[in-house]
Amino acid sequence: MPNIQCLPSHVADLIAAGEVVERPASVVKELLENAIDAGATAIVVEMERGGLTYLRITDNGCGIAPQELPTAFLRHATSKLRTAQDLAAIGTLGFRGEALAAISAVSHVDIFSRQRESDVGAMLHLDGGVAGEVTETGCPEGTTICIRDLFYNTPARMKFMKKDSAEGAAVHGIVQHVALSHPQISFKLLRDGSEVLYTPGDGKLLSAVYAAMGREFALGLVDIKGCGGDVAVEGYVSRPLNGHGTRGKQVMFVNGRFVKSQLLTAALEEAYRNRLMKGKFPGCVLHVTLPPELVDVNVHPAKTVVKFVSDKPVFDAVYYTVRSALDAAEKPAAPEPPKENFYRTMTVQQYRETAAEEKKPVGSYGRGGTVQPSPARSFSTPPSPVRPVPAQGMSGAYAASPAAEKPAQRPVLSGEIHDVAPQTGEAFTVPGHTPDGRQVTYEITPPAREEQTAPAQETAAEKVTSVPEPVRQESAAEQTAMDLPEPEQQVLQSGPAPWRMVGEVLKTYIICEDEQENVWLIDKHAAHERIRFDALKADPQPLMAQSLLEPLAVSLAAEEYSAVLEHEDTLRHFGFDCEDFGDGTVLVREIPADIRSGDAAATLEELAKKLLEQRADPAGARDELLHTMACKSAIKAGMNTSPAELAALVEKVQAGEIAYCPHGRPVAVKLSKYEIEKMFKRA
Ligand code: ADP
Ligand code: MG
Repeated sequence: MPNIQCLPSHVADLIAAGEVVERPASVVKELLENAIDAGATAIVVEMERGGLTYLRITDNGCGIAPQELPTAFLRHATSKLRTAQDLAAIGTLGFRGEALAAISAVSHVDIFSRQRESDVGAMLHLDGGVAGEVTETGCPEGTTICIRDLFYNTPARMKFMKKDSAEGAAVHGIVQHVALSHPQISFKLLRDGSEVLYTPGDGKLLSAVYAAMGREFALGLVDIKGCGGDVAVEGYVSRPLNGHGTRGKQVMFVNGRFVKSQLLTAALEEAYRNRLMKGKFPGCVLHVTLPPELVDVNVHPAKTVVKFVSDKPVFDAVYYTVRSALDAAEKPAAPEPPKENFYRTMTVQQYRETAAEEKKPVGSYGRGGTVQPSPARSFSTPPSPVRPVPAQGMSGAYAASPAAEKPAQRPVLSGEIHDVAPQTGEAFTVPGHTPDGRQVTYEITPPAREEQTAPAQETAAEKVTSVPEPVRQESAAEQTAMDLPEPEQQVLQSGPAPWRMVGEVLKTYIICEDEQENVWLIDKHAAHERIRFDALKADPQPLMAQSLLEPLAVSLAAEEYSAVLEHEDTLRHFGFDCEDFGDGTVLVREIPADIRSGDAAATLEELAKKLLEQRADPAGARDELLHTMACKSAIKAGMNTSPAELAALVEKVQAGEIAYCPHGRPVAVKLSKYEIEKMFKRA
């Protein structure tokens, strides 16, 4: 490191004079930054009584020359900044040259330091900023700085201190954040003699996340990496099923600096729309990197506030990176169904074209054009059960069509987004102890995509050719399956082994078993609702409507009544043809084709409510309305469902196509053999 010099006063004046020493945590932050700037690869922080009586930071960095020790404690003494221009493109973390001066002014300090090339170190003692003599001493390479009795001479400041536990927690938080932004450095924190944090410093962010945020958090993550224009985004976000009760597990960095930013939080959370349970928040360790000139440097560097020169590219980069990683994580190993899959579905548009060709009256239910009351609800993905005769002559649950599937509608960012294959499964190291108390690090290979429904990752080539085999079923289900003609796709190779469907319980949950000895419980309504929602959302066409023989009179509350009249066109798009009948009543002549007529009034009422709630957010309104349509048209818990239909749902879940219902509730729950054995005290 270059020699320490006093800043020219005009440069010093440029720098916002900030209170460096607010509390023990701010001292630790400054001292950690110094150690990092000194090139340390291992840093130990020790504190007692929340850091108020004792703080010691030891690093193995470059050290300070004996003759420079007193200089380091002078105001505006720094080795890191020479000119005003340096301010704009500051590379190191600290640049005010006042931390040591400010800290030593309000405490008793002992500093020991030995430079790498030096045989002997030096020490210096300061009381309230007044330095003693530099003396020679034996000490390890690097710097140890010990702060005692912080604020001993400023009782006013002392009064602001919270309880030791709160100050200690704040120090812990700082060490956590610094560790998460420097995975290549090993950090250790000892609180009143016990080790509370230790990161291995192996350069892997996941190792640091594991050590700093805990095992459970680390194993419930999806890795993300992407960029949009100049903005790069990298890190980990929680799987939607691992939502948290608060935003406390959102840790964000901009150019390595820990920040709190509503913009970044909004971008992150927007990416979880329709995936996360209400009241839950995603966790993350997010690193956003962008050219320094795009970050507003006038914000005080010690604060966690961040401002961007332009918000939109930052928002977009975070949003699209997180979203595409979540999309990919939802269906990582799901083989793309081949074009002629019997499970093919068609859009309303395609159906209309086919129907027109076949001169089949729109609104009739399949099978030769006769109108049937739809005994078996259809639940493959088309937006309506109104569809042509199933090509394989199978039950109404399967619709066959040669129609090409729509490409996934993924927004494209003006810059490029690089999806990086999730690296879950890659080994990372965690700290541990041997039985005799020695510290060691263990290498852990997390189970690849533990929560994912599909067991194996496949190569891109395999993805295009393989298909999940249909679900095996038992007893009655087997019988039904055997009655079905063999779909030709069954002969296709190399899909994951099908789950064995054991049966249905409580008329709600499907029980299955997979090859890895896991038991799955699938909520049939949630699963079907998700399928319906995705299909509806992907299709911009109006929903298929069916005319009622007799119009239905629906009485509504005053507000809902006027909402229905005001949004007649929107409602028509959703399959409802309504007409004002006066006095709070509307006449409904057409209802969505896949809604039971008994449910029509309730559905309309719910749509009206949502239109009222979402007045301010028309974009969100569509999703909300689709939720209702998906929910009302899905098979319901407590209803009888044919084994073939259940099997079709299982197949979708196994393929990883659906994981949460549109409200973010899980569609499937996995119980490993080990978990079951634990319940029975076998393990
Ligand atoms: P700044 O970090 O802004 O330069 P400080 O008051 O924090 O100001 O530190 C003053 C100087 O002391 C630094 O510029 C650096 O040269 C030296 N220094 C402080 N801490 C260490 C350390 N742990 N290892 C090596 N040098 C250090
Ligand atoms: Mg500093």
